[in-house]
This record gives sequence, C-alpha cells and structure tokens, in this order.
Amino acid sequence: MQILVADHPLIAHKLTALRDQRTDSPTFRRLADELVTLLAYEATRDVRTTEVDVVTPISHARGRRLARPRPLVVPVLRAGLGMLDGMCRLLPTAEVGFLGLVRDEETLVSTTYATRLPDELAGRQIYVLDPMLATGGTLAATMDLLIERGADQVTAICLLAAPEGLAMLEKHLANVTIPIAVVAAAIDQGLNDQGYIVPGLGDAGDRLYGTTGST
Ligand code: URA
Repeated sequence: MQILVADHPLIAHKLTALRDQRTDSPTFRRLADELVTLLAYEATRDVRTTEVDVVTPISHARGRRLARPRPLVVPVLRAGLGMLDGMCRLLPTAEVGFLGLVRDEETLVSTTYATRLPDELAGRQIYVLDPMLATGGTLAATMDLLIERGADQVTAICLLAAPEGLAMLEKHLANVTIPIAVVAAAIDQGLNDQGYIVPGLGDAGDRLYGTTGST
C-alpha cells in the first residue's frame, strides 16, 4: 500500500483552518472542498489517459484524454459527501457511486447500510473519499467490497489519517495484489479512547453539516 502525504503550503494552510474549532460549518465546507481539489491533484497522478489528436486553430497537436472506462469516485456517507464537489471539479466526467458505512461508537466496527455501485468494477480506477482515516475499519470494509467486485486500482483520499488506521489497513490488505494508495493532507499523532484522531479536527460529519459547534 502506498501512502502519500501531500506536502504543500496551501494544503497546510487550509488544513490548519479546518482544525480550528472556531471555524464554522460554511467555512469548514468551503475549506474541505478546496483541500480535496488539491489532494485530488496528487491522487490522480496516475489516472489513465489515452493519446489523441486535436486540431488547434493553427495546426494539429498530440494530446491526452481520460481513458475509458471512466474513473469511479466513491464518497463514503455521510462525511465523504463533503468531499464530492471538490473531487468532481477535477474529474467532472468521472462516474460517482455511493457507499454508506456506519461506525459503532463502542466497538468501532463499521457496517454497510447502503451500496450504490456498479456490480462489475473490472478495469476501473477508483477514488474513495473518506475524510478521516481513524481506526481503518471503514476503509478496510470499503476496500474489501471494491476488490470483491473486481476493482483494478483503489486510491483513498483522506483529509487526515491516524498511524493506527494506516497500520491496520496495511495489515488487512497485505495479500491484495492490486495497487492501493492512501493520499492524506497529514498523518496525526494517534487516536484517543473514543477513536477520534488527535489532534484531528473533531467529527468531520458534524463539522461539515453543522450538527454541533458554532452558527
Ligand atoms: N471520524 C471523525 O469524524 N473524526 C475522527 O477524529 C475520527 C473519525
């Protein structure tokens, strides 16, 4: 499994503002959106393209176009939805699937409650959107489902990752042969007793959708 921490001053700036507990929901949503577009730029470095010819107003040019089948973007509900617009800004022609996973706050085990994905994923490059890679349970369950359906390559785009979650995922996927990558804006110190990332940014879903915090 490849782990990439996107090291860029603009990413660090936006992430710092996201972490700040004084950042309200509308600003949090905008910052998350901008941050995802920057992370997506790193995450799609190996998106498949094919060579094409175009006629310019002056002459002909050799260029590249996104290959078929189209990449599939999968936000993990609910917090991953806050990353979808930022991703689609960069990949407007991607197909979008949805996956709903909920984490039991006591056992920290994730279970699937909604799946809206193509049955067959052979030949597909997939970009999973999940802002917080905490225990790794949600991403492990997501990867299992995508690999089971034949995915060719899976890249998870996260705002933050915890070392425990990355280690768990690496162990879980040790025998997987397809390319798997995690792209994050930062790897934090670790998890607290409730499975929250420290220092983190709190509950990403609550902060995106205004369930708690300031007005
Ligand atoms: N999910 C969140 O939203 N935040 C965390 O810190 C961990 C999991």
